[in-house]
Amino acid sequence: MHKEIEHRGEPLVQLENVNKWFGDLHVLKDINLTISEGEVVVIVGPSGSGKSTLCRTINRLEPIQGGTIILGDKELPSEGRALAQLRAQVGMVFQSFNLFAHKSILDNVTIGPIKVKKVSKKQAEAEAMDLLKRVGVDSQASKRPAQLSGGQQQRVAIARALAMKPDLILFDEPTSALDPEMVNEVLDVMTSLAREGMTMVVVTHEMGFAHRAADRVIFMDDGLIVEEGTPDEFFNNPQSPRARDFLSKIL
Ligand code: ADP
Ligand code: MG
Repeated sequence: MHKEIEHRGEPLVQLENVNKWFGDLHVLKDINLTISEGEVVVIVGPSGSGKSTLCRTINRLEPIQGGTIILGDKELPSEGRALAQLRAQVGMVFQSFNLFAHKSILDNVTIGPIKVKKVSKKQAEAEAMDLLKRVGVDSQASKRPAQLSGGQQQRVAIARALAMKPDLILFDEPTSALDPEMVNEVLDVMTSLAREGMTMVVVTHEMGFAHRAADRVIFMDDGLIVEEGTPDEFFNNPQSPRARDFLSKIL
């Protein structure tokens, strides 16, 4: 059923037979997935199908009980300094922004590079201002997160992820908590990143974005990758009854 997909570059993330349980609940069932450099993978599927858990396992925010995860050419260790280093290569943008409420926008973007990568404050601030400009919120740099709109805060969260110069960014429903009029300003930033060649894994219900930006769409249901294909293949000619049922409910 799986079609040959043309990948853009070398494999960056490889999941092999990944299995995860929460107690008795088998949440990821033998997941095999390769994400190549420069690829944009959109993950769709019903609520509870394991999309967030899959994202969180990719950078080991969640331990797995079976299988391996390889990042670049290194197997992800389960703990310790080596894990922290590898994890710094993977950015994450959450539904709920997760900015530090008591720090300025600028400090939110510089704290990672300064603390984790030991970049000088001056350099970190210069780079942060460039990134804030790129996502269109440089005029807000001295404010606190609560003074910004949700769309602005999420763009700051993207700038914060980029500040670490990650190899890959995971986006878990980055627009689901936003008022409708702010969704596009965030998707536009993500679309530009995709065009510039950033490797991205995006969980989203925004099918327009998936069509426009994805190289590959992955459909999950009940802990399984049920189907994958190009956006055209998936949206115009879904193979499995479960994917057809899902699409009939959301399109
Ligand atoms: P999705 O993101 O596709 O909605 P999740 O990955 O959040 O799905 O959840 C997959 C399944 O794992 C669901 O049944 C959910 O209830 C369960 N689950 C998620 N996180 C936890 C947790 N920390 N402890 C126990 N069960 C969890
Ligand atoms: Mg989720």
